[in-house]
Amino acid sequence: MIYLDNAATTKVFDCAINAADSAMRESYFNPNATYRDAVAVKASIEKSRRTLAGLTGINPDEIVFTSCATESNNWVFNRAIKNPKGNIVISAGEHSSVYEPAMSLKSKGTDVRIAPLRCDGSVDTDKLYELVDQDTTLVSVIHVSNETGAVNPIKQISSKVKSIAPRAIVHSDGVQGFLKAEPIGSLGVDLYSASAHKIGAPKGIGLLYIRRGVTLAPNNLGGGQERGLRSGTQNTPGIAAFAAAAEHFSLIANHGEVHAVREKLCDYFKSCGFRVIGGAGSGYILCVSIPRVRAEILQNLVCEKGVIIGKGAACSGSKRGNRVLEALGLSREAAECCIRISFFADVKRNEALDAAHIITETAERIRRENVI
Ligand code: PLP
Repeated sequence: MIYLDNAATTKVFDCAINAADSAMRESYFNPNATYRDAVAVKASIEKSRRTLAGLTGINPDEIVFTSCATESNNWVFNRAIKNPKGNIVISAGEHSSVYEPAMSLKSKGTDVRIAPLRCDGSVDTDKLYELVDQDTTLVSVIHVSNETGAVNPIKQISSKVKSIAPRAIVHSDGVQGFLKAEPIGSLGVDLYSASAHKIGAPKGIGLLYIRRGVTLAPNNLGGGQERGLRSGTQNTPGIAAFAAAAEHFSLIANHGEVHAVREKLCDYFKSCGFRVIGGAGSGYILCVSIPRVRAEILQNLVCEKGVIIGKGAACSGSKRGNRVLEALGLSREAAECCIRISFFADVKRNEALDAAHIITETAERIRRENVI
């Protein structure tokens, strides 16, 4: 099988499985208990926190473990709004786990402003800055688009937003950028969400980076775990696996090769008359629109031939249309013809090219036989 839907989720590394396995079989004690073996589990959580922080240029005490990035994003929108009369600015390219909480606030009367996208899939920063004013309380812009791989200039956005609205909180959904694009510590953001299952760890564990000095109301109240910010017994197997996977991912990731493979596929698909959506972007995600070929049909037929690709966001796979692709100027029809090919750290050039050939052959068959 050639698996090219890594933006949806990734195969779990053996080292992450082993770390979780040992946390469950041997180190299963409650990290908040006070006997020796439990204290050792607490220490291993802190070690994992240090590992993750070190890999992305932040301080360990700036990481709060959550159950997933959806939780991290919802936490931001539910708790980071300091001034209820203030406005919120997001981009039109946000994942539904940012967009829906923002819409929920809007339905309760908050002034939510949406910055449009450029045709390369990145946010139109000029328009974004026009929407920010002294009353802006939160700005949230996705780091790397899960649809097109477009990379937003988060560092520039953070500093410009702070110059217009010094009290505004700047958040970025970094699920597709974590360890794949610029490190969190270089971005100047206040808050950043990440998810473990996109980098070779299991599902059910994520984090929220909260910059030192930023105050955020707790997400859960209870036993006071995670410095009182997110009560609930920690997911110790998940945390151990997250750190092990992050270390391994950073070791094996060859961003140059990932970019080169993406480029090769872009050239190939363009030579077949397909439309590559977005600009250079992240090497890890490639979005292609194939005229007169519905992505869902193509996805199912190539799956039968052992090639797994995505179409739009997996989470919103059941919804019709695609809000983000339409926001960058695609018609509903063109968006429904978009496949998403997404790579992992250990991308294999030959496999990617074989998959590309299977995709084009199958697309031609669909057109020839008029499969609908
Ligand atoms: N944000 C982005 C950009 C994503 O791609 C995803 C998942 O695909 C999420 C958030 C949600 O992450 P999780 O599955 O950890 O809730």
